[in-house]
Amino acid sequence: MRGPARAPIGWGGSRVTGVAARSRSPRDRISLSFGLNMCIRRLFRSSHLHWAWRAAFLKHSRCGHQGPWRWTHSGGGPYRAVIFDMGGVLIPSPGKVAAEWEVQNHIPSGTILKALITGGENGPWLKFMRGEITKEDFLQEFRRICSEISNTSVPVDNFFSLLTSEQVAKQFPVMTEAIIQIRAKGLQTAVLSNNFYLSNGKSFLPLDRKQFDVVVESCVEGVCKPDHRIYKLCLERLGLQPSESIFLDDLGQNVKAAASLGMRTIKVNDPEAAVKELESLLGFTLRTVIPNTRPVRKTMEIPKDSLEKYLRDLLGTQTTGPLELLQFDHGQSNPTYYIKLAGHQLVLRKKPPGTLLPSAHAVEREFRIMKALASAGVPVPKVLDLCEDSRVIGTPFYLMEYCPGLIYKDPSLPGLEPSQRRAIYAAMNRVLCKIHSVDFKAAGLEDYGKHGDYIPRQVQTWIKQYRASETSTIPAMERLIEWLPLHLPRQEKITVVHGDFRLDNLLFHPEKTEVLAVFDWELSTLGDPLSDVAYSCMAHYLPPSFPILRGQASSATAEQSGKMTEFMSDLAWEFAVKEGFRIFKEMPATKPLARSYHTWAGPRSLPSTPGARSYTSLPEPSSAHASKGALVISPEGLSPPVRELYERLKQFMDRHVYPAEPELRRHQASAERWTPSPLVEDLKEKAKAKGLWNLFLPLETDPERKYGAGLTNVEYAHLCELMGMSLYAPEIFNCSAPDTGNMELLVRYGTKEQKARWLTPLLEGKARSCFAMTEPQVASSDATNIESSIREEDGFYVINGHKWWISGILDPRCQLCVFMGKTDPHAPRHQQQSVLLVPMDTPGIKVIRPLTVYGLDDAPGGHGEVLFEQVRVPKESMVLGPGRGFEIAQGRLGPGRIHHCMRLIGHSERALALMKARVKSRVAFGKPLVEQGTLLADIAQSRVEIEQARLLVLKAAHLMDVVGNKAAALDIAMIKMVAPSMAYRVIDRAIQAFGAAGLSGDYPLAQFFAWARALRFADGPDEVHRAAVAKMELKNRI
Ligand SMILES: Cc1cc2nc3c(=O)[nH]c(=O)nc-3n(C[C@H](O)[C@H](O)[C@H](O)COP(=O)(O)OP(=O)(O)OC[C@H]3O[C@@H](n4cnc5c(N)ncnc54)[C@H](O)[C@@H]3O)c2cc1C
Repeated sequence: MRGPARAPIGWGGSRVTGVAARSRSPRDRISLSFGLNMCIRRLFRSSHLHWAWRAAFLKHSRCGHQGPWRWTHSGGGPYRAVIFDMGGVLIPSPGKVAAEWEVQNHIPSGTILKALITGGENGPWLKFMRGEITKEDFLQEFRRICSEISNTSVPVDNFFSLLTSEQVAKQFPVMTEAIIQIRAKGLQTAVLSNNFYLSNGKSFLPLDRKQFDVVVESCVEGVCKPDHRIYKLCLERLGLQPSESIFLDDLGQNVKAAASLGMRTIKVNDPEAAVKELESLLGFTLRTVIPNTRPVRKTMEIPKDSLEKYLRDLLGTQTTGPLELLQFDHGQSNPTYYIKLAGHQLVLRKKPPGTLLPSAHAVEREFRIMKALASAGVPVPKVLDLCEDSRVIGTPFYLMEYCPGLIYKDPSLPGLEPSQRRAIYAAMNRVLCKIHSVDFKAAGLEDYGKHGDYIPRQVQTWIKQYRASETSTIPAMERLIEWLPLHLPRQEKITVVHGDFRLDNLLFHPEKTEVLAVFDWELSTLGDPLSDVAYSCMAHYLPPSFPILRGQASSATAEQSGKMTEFMSDLAWEFAVKEGFRIFKEMPATKPLARSYHTWAGPRSLPSTPGARSYTSLPEPSSAHASKGALVISPEGLSPPVRELYERLKQFMDRHVYPAEPELRRHQASAERWTPSPLVEDLKEKAKAKGLWNLFLPLETDPERKYGAGLTNVEYAHLCELMGMSLYAPEIFNCSAPDTGNMELLVRYGTKEQKARWLTPLLEGKARSCFAMTEPQVASSDATNIESSIREEDGFYVINGHKWWISGILDPRCQLCVFMGKTDPHAPRHQQQSVLLVPMDTPGIKVIRPLTVYGLDDAPGGHGEVLFEQVRVPKESMVLGPGRGFEIAQGRLGPGRIHHCMRLIGHSERALALMKARVKSRVAFGKPLVEQGTLLADIAQSRVEIEQARLLVLKAAHLMDVVGNKAAALDIAMIKMVAPSMAYRVIDRAIQAFGAAGLSGDYPLAQFFAWARALRFADGPDEVHRAAVAKMELKNRI
């Protein structure tokens, strides 16, 4: 017999879930790749304790809220029992199982059902149900009937095995919950089933019999539903009148029979809907009211009597009443239970049974930290007792008070107003501050963890865990594994760290934005507080549906885990190289001292991709570590999306740009050369359509990727080199100077209006621009010499000056002149200049002549000599403000400064490729040119010089990415010193190998040469860069 009606169950915390678009302000986004890695670690953690824990809502001393659900008396109205049919009510119906099975086994639909009813009362099915024939006899007869019906042989044994398999014959959880609630209200439960015997002589009953007061099976009684006798038998055993019971069955005739006896009936089509109907008849909820709990799993049962005795001693209560025990979901690691005893609501958390690793499942540590933190004012569950005596329930355990409240499961907080979300996140941050502010020595936690090196240790642990569970190489992880140890913070603080700080580990007050308790201290220790900050910011970076945010990571397959790992390591990498450096830069400890990061690119091996840069002198491929290396020295090492962009660009160059060169050269030599080539305009549209547009704008200038592709300088270096293979390519992709520098200037310093007027058409490739600084009268390599005057007059600025070598000014599409002149000749030297945005159609601008470079006029942009006479522009044309021209010129020449170098590597590669092809195909003095020793030496020399220069360019780009343009000044100066003269020499050798053809317009060599030579001035004279390098060298390296 069952005991008295169970005690009421209190209302607990409920999880607020749902999916909604996230609102992520980019400014809110701050996290570290560290956090992402903590997340990666979770995938490899053997224990998923936290899921169990998170489900436990514990009572904090400040929390008195009880919620609306309170049962104070038994319910059920006139009903005293609920009687369940089995198949179709508690477990799936044979009819439904049959229908699916028929489809899968190509058996005519309905065969099984027809066979089941064949013969009616005397058919094999009902005989089997009444226990009159054995399973074997039944199956023999059944097989025969099925075959007759379907005209085919039917494997009925197979169907029967499926029907009775564990996989199919499982009780519906909704019914399990309902039965618990019904019994908790003091009502009886019964199974009344048309059932059969199995071969082992036992009836088929895949149910926990303890759930039922009465079990009535047709095979045992020799009577089947809808025979009234079996209903009466059941009622008799329950000791009830028909009207005191509710009967649930999925077959109409069985329901009808019950109703005719006076029982209340529910015809079950869908178990969920049936439970709802039952709820309304009974008048109470049939759902478990402690959220995220379930009946204790068989394998997780604990000795109730011994526990009850312990609890009564502990609580000192003499009150009678049974012990109620539920298990929180996901408790495979450290099983967690809800307990109700004599008005006390508790949570018990224990170690799992069996042999454990010494440091695993340390419930004692959890107890200790929560106790200490509660005294220090951190909202944690109130711990009551630690029982280390394994005799009580088999393992050590501890007890906490149960606390109702809200847990926000979805970190994007769907359905809440922005202000509410803000308040919740702020409360989350406040509580984190509180944790990190605890004086751990005063709290008695000095020996709670090692002091120092928390992050290095964590990183090593993750690597070890990852390696232990690695099934195949994930290049993105390899890259990260190499990068992280090289970028550990040099300073650290030591505080209590939670180790798994996230929104769904917090219990909130149901009515106020207040954290009532922080759960899941399994990973807590003494460590660097930044790790908690990083980890809690993870939710801003991961997609809302990411399994780790939804608690589904632990059930992922190896393949899914691999994909998640790859995703997160890519994300961490992106963060580290793109956004992270902005944060690291601000940290004094990570600033370079004596350029100690100089050569840490590290060893790498690269796969040889057919058609990929075949001119590199890279080591032989090794598939194992394809993407290793912090400094990406080859396109193969680029992240997958950038690599894809690179390949797309390469394909476009091959398909469209190189084939267009002869026509474009013809146009440049023709009379129409001062009008843009229609072919270029056409290719621009094509490139735009392929997403190969505005690739130049560095991520640092455009962190939100509003204007460009958001590439790092290193990434762009590889793409820019590719564009440098053709003189025409940069314009086709809207990546050509001087527009690139001007666009960057506008992005960085332009007002909203200036951007709208100038930046938009430039980004769209509709307009072009020029930059006017150099003047014939003064040595312009020193920008402070500039003499052109900018005078304020009647709310306008009036410009007078003489400029030359103004590239692009002759282009009919040139609409904007970025003009540099002096507003105040008496100000300090570097504050005399200002920059104005001058529309090219302003009266007073007179282009005197085009200048030529070795006779080439570079039409249609050209290089113009220009007079500015009384040119009036409104005051709003000023960029940043008067006197800030020098600053702007420096900024403009930030990343833009190295683009020329990147392109020069491209020129050189193309020249060398042309040279190699040429010398292989021509014979002189009886042998191919390539066999002439001097040419071999030239080829070798060119290869070496290109490689040297490329590495230096990439290094400068990389430093710009990780420490910023200013700290990379020396490397920028070095490549500007190196690249033009390297290209000049390589191209010169190629021209020499070509013979006279090399000087002609038939090949790009002559133009490359002229441009490389010009760049020894145009981008600042070599001597200026040399002087800069020497100065810095003398300053830095003593
Ligand atoms: C093809 C091309 C395109 C150009 N496009 C533009 C443009 O669009 N806009 C623009 O404003 N300008 C442009 N220029 C001009 C270019 O920026 C200048 O030529 C450059 O700044 C040098 O100035 P300068 O010609 O007045 O030489 P100067 O300043 O007169 O220098 C002459 C020489 O003096 C020596 N010298 C100078 N400084 C030092 C030093 N510190 N140490 C040792 N020796 C030194 C060097 O040998 C140098 O070459 C372009 C030039 C070329 C060739």
